[in-house]
Amino acid sequence: MSNIIKLLPDSVANQIAAGEVIQRPASVVKELLENSIDAGATQITLIIKDGGKTLIQITDNGYGMSETDARMCFERHSTSKIDNASDLFRIKTMGFRGEALASIASISRVELKSRLKNAELGTEVIVEGSVAESQHPCQCPAGTTVAVKNLFYNTPARRNFLKSENIEKSHIFNEFARVAMATPKTGFKYYYNNKLTLQVDPSNLKQRISGLFGTTYNQRLIPVEENTDIISVSGFVLKPEFARKRRSEQFFFVNKRYVKAPYLNHSVENAFSELIPDGMHPSFFLFLETDPSNIDINVHPTKTEIKFQNEAFIYKILLSSVKRALGRFNISPSLDFERETAFDDVIFDKDRPVSMPTIKVDPDYNPFKTDKSASRLMSERKNPQQWEKLCNDMKEAEKTDDEGQGKDHNIFNKNFYDECSRDINTSLAQKEKRFWQLNDRYIITPVKSGLMFIDQQRAHERILYEKFLKKYENKKTTVQQLLYPLKAEFIESDANIMREIIPHINALGFDISEFGGNTFVINSIPAEIKESENIVQIIEELLENYKKNLSEPKLDIYKNIARSLAKSEAIKHGRVLTEKEMNTLVGELFACSMPGVSPASKPALFILTYQELSDRFK
Ligand code: ADP
Ligand code: MG
Repeated sequence: MSNIIKLLPDSVANQIAAGEVIQRPASVVKELLENSIDAGATQITLIIKDGGKTLIQITDNGYGMSETDARMCFERHSTSKIDNASDLFRIKTMGFRGEALASIASISRVELKSRLKNAELGTEVIVEGSVAESQHPCQCPAGTTVAVKNLFYNTPARRNFLKSENIEKSHIFNEFARVAMATPKTGFKYYYNNKLTLQVDPSNLKQRISGLFGTTYNQRLIPVEENTDIISVSGFVLKPEFARKRRSEQFFFVNKRYVKAPYLNHSVENAFSELIPDGMHPSFFLFLETDPSNIDINVHPTKTEIKFQNEAFIYKILLSSVKRALGRFNISPSLDFERETAFDDVIFDKDRPVSMPTIKVDPDYNPFKTDKSASRLMSERKNPQQWEKLCNDMKEAEKTDDEGQGKDHNIFNKNFYDECSRDINTSLAQKEKRFWQLNDRYIITPVKSGLMFIDQQRAHERILYEKFLKKYENKKTTVQQLLYPLKAEFIESDANIMREIIPHINALGFDISEFGGNTFVINSIPAEIKESENIVQIIEELLENYKKNLSEPKLDIYKNIARSLAKSEAIKHGRVLTEKEMNTLVGELFACSMPGVSPASKPALFILTYQELSDRFK
């Protein structure tokens, strides 16, 4: 058999490399921005059209390239950034593989113009599908402009794989934001479909974060600063009360390069562990600087994964520096969740005097005599499977109830609630204190069959959720006009979601409209919300919750919003409640159709029966 091995033509090799490096338009944006930063640019303009499918253009005022370099840069493994293998351990630049431009030019049409600072004329090179089409001298400003057109034109599979314009647009924005965050001294202008979407001037990190995420971030940031021989840590963490359901605002940069390193995230989350509720995640923008020889960033072509030589040490440094930063700012859990929440409509006697806490004993009560209905239900609840079954029943009941049928499903629960309801109403009507708060989290109250525990946050979510659903049903809202309209600014991807859900949010009594760019203006709010509250934060949380709930595909958009707003507006764990507030909360809870479960179908209350109690003492 004759020889069969042959070298792949460069154009094919480049396309294969492109498959790894350029997954979507955002990858091109990242590579080109990084090249501009490596070229020492202090001003960069990014122009995107149609999610990057038709045009990605980046102009910088960096060093520029000579005539030869402007041609050479499209060759595979052409780089000015390393000379030999040992340089790999001293990398200070963003790029070094010499692959990006060759890969990009193999799957698009690239028009590059570049001029060295001292040269009179620049040069223009056009390459399409790895083939150099032309090179001419040209007039252009010092620096480089790279225009990438018709990306993936010759790789239809990739092109078809692209997501909707909005999704590609948000990926692009995310890459842009990461680079812009790591280089606050460089100014950026970002045009999308001919509109200036964002402009950030050269500044410091704090201003850059506000520039990208909105001016409200200014007051939320706590500085972190720590220097050791091996590594230095700097940047900001957000105050614990701005923790999020998703890890969408966790940014790590190592030597100014955005990286993904779960164990680093873990370390910071660990530092926050006692300050934020379970299931929430802190936000942070942290920069680690270390000698390049301590890290290996070559593990992945897109260079977002990183390996440290001494991971355990870095973990500890990070943990202690964040803890110290929080300590310096006197962050303690009790302070974090203090927020005014509306408790206006007290349903019982408002002027009822506050009495000393006493525990009321029912002299007729015999714990050994089993109470038929409630107690049977409770003993069924003893094991977790039963609990789960009960929850599922409730979920089912709620589902069918929402659809206005299957009321029979509810009988099991309704009996129980009716009975609890009677107990609670009796308690509420009494002059003595009947409600106590436990661990700033639960409300406890004696009922006939035992001691009822109510989760204050879930209970309030249930109350608000049902209120909001009623608004949708009745198409009636009570609105309060804000004295001063508020502005909220979102990152690109969030702004897109906002545009979609505004009509539904407004149906609840908000008046929010687009203001231009990614800014929205809030003119009025529903009557349930106090003007003194942090309205912008409520909207931001609503959006976060909404995004999280999207994982339940069957959830209607209006129910998602009702649930999300209920969650963001509900009083949180850690909030100390007055007796009056507890009375109102419990009263309103038992006026709900499903008092026992949160809108997300988690238990909102349970009863520790006297039977269970006495079993404990056996
Ligand atoms: P790498 O960045 O890994 O070196 P690239 O393919 O991204 O590889 O770029 C190849 C080379 O082209 C770079 O090493 C640099 O010398 C040059 N280059 C690319 N973009 C620019 C730019 N905006 N300004 C100046 N030089 C550039
Ligand atoms: Mg590069």
